[in-house]
Formats: sequence, structure tokens, C-alpha cells
Amino acid sequence: DRGDKPLLHIEGVTVRFGGIVALDGVSFDVARGQICGLIGPNGAGKSTLFNCLSRLYTFSSGRIEFEGQPLASLPRHKMAGLGIGRTFQNLALFRTMTVLENVLIGCHSKHHAGFLRNAFRLPGVARVEADALARAHELIAFLELGPVADRTVADLPFGTQKRVELARALASEPQLLLLDEPACGLNHEELESLGTLILDIRNRRKVTVLLVEHHMSLVMGVSDKVVALNFGKKIAEGTPAEVRRHPEVIRAYLGE
Ligand code: ADP
Ligand code: MG
Repeated sequence: DRGDKPLLHIEGVTVRFGGIVALDGVSFDVARGQICGLIGPNGAGKSTLFNCLSRLYTFSSGRIEFEGQPLASLPRHKMAGLGIGRTFQNLALFRTMTVLENVLIGCHSKHHAGFLRNAFRLPGVARVEADALARAHELIAFLELGPVADRTVADLPFGTQKRVELARALASEPQLLLLDEPACGLNHEELESLGTLILDIRNRRKVTVLLVEHHMSLVMGVSDKVVALNFGKKIAEGTPAEVRRHPEVIRAYLGE
């Protein structure tokens, strides 16, 4: 029964780059429907873990299971379609395309591996199926991008581009959404609405969220549980209140 297994099970994952141990035997679970924060100083291994989850990196030992299935057994090019979506620490959008086109690409990554190739042969979005278009418009409305749907991404403010990236990541209807520093570069007002948005993504769209974030009040405010890494090792795991006052976490952030 899928209900009694964690959506994501990470067990003893180790990643080496030459002499550097980027992740060192990291284990934790993310339950379905949870918002799990992942914190740690720069170089702690947070992005490396995301890159393992989206299978951009291979781990030298350990095990990751998604819905009880070893990640290694799932075809890499199908990750989005299989239910793991992500945003990147640096934006990964098609900057010369419109908001709508970017979201449509996300819609198609679930169903058509060849969409990207075909997209550039087709005149505009004329031949995009109606259901993908409806889904894209629904997401654009959810992220309050309606007024800029036909604008070129490169012309939009940074905070708006970040919402486009969220729409694109949600377009493949992931079960698990990986957010890598979504607050980075946002102004105060955008930060406040990001917190609400992350909660809405879980509450209204039923998406499980793994959130890498440096902005402590954001990550502590929205997460059900928090995992802290330092130098590739898990140093704490618990509720936001438990992790916030954990001596090793305090030490890591004070740089002792
Ligand atoms: P974080 O996202 O927590 O800041 P990273 O996962 O980016 O940390 O990096 C963890 C460690 O792994 C760092 O020492 C980093 O330099 C190293 N690292 C990450 N990716 C690579 C890579 N592709 N090649 C070599 N070293 C890497
Ligand atoms: Mg990082």
C-alpha cells in the first residue's frame, strides 16, 4: 500500500568528487504531503542531493527510493514524468520564449519526450493539444502570471521569472517538488508571498515539497520538518523548533 511508505526514502547516500565527499552517508525520509526543509551552510551538499534526486549525479553508495522504487531503476529522461519536478538555484528557463511557452514545455515533459525537438519545428503553439494548453493556463492563473503570459521571459523582473520557473516545474504534475533556494534574490514582498505559495502548492495541489533555503524564517515557517547538513553529513533532523535550537546547527552557522 502506497500510504504507509514514505514518498522519498534516502539511505546512506554518499557522493564523491575526486577527494571531496560532497555527501557522506545521508539518510532521511520525506512523507507524502510533507514540506521538508533542507538547510546547511554553503557547500554542505544540498544541491548535490537535489542533483542525485533528479539523477544528474550518480551516488557512489547508498539508496534512494521514490514511491518504494529504487531511483536508479527509473529512466533518467523520464524523471519529470515519473513525478519529481524541480527548480534550479540559477534559473533554468528559455529566456527568449514567452511565459506560456515555458509552461507548455513543462506540460509536455510529462507526456512527450520529443516535444522539445518538435516545438522548434512547429509554428508557435498552434498544434499544442488543448489539454496541455488548459493545464498551462490554470497554472499561470495559480501563479498570478496571467497579465504576463505572452511576454518574453527575459523582459520580466527576476521575481516574476522565478514564478515562471515554479509554474514550469509544476506543469509536469510532480508528486515531489524540489525547490533549490527559491527565495534567493527576492525582495521582501515577494518573500512573503513565496511562503504562502509554497503552502498553497502543498495544501491545494497536494504536492510534497523538499525545500533548500537559506532564508531561515521562510524555511522554518513553512516546513513540517527540517533536515540540516554540514560538510556532507546530516547533523540534525526534527521540527523547525528542534532544529533551530540544535547545538550542532548553531555551531555550523556560527562557523566554529
Ligand atoms: P550546497 O548546495 O549545500 O551549497 P553543493 O552540493 O553545491 O553545496 O556542494 C557540496 C560540495 O560538493 C562542495 O564542496 C562543492 O564544491 C562540491 N561539488 C558539488 N558539485 C560538484 C561538481 N560537479 N564537481 C566537483 N565538486 C562539486
Ligand atoms: Mg546549492
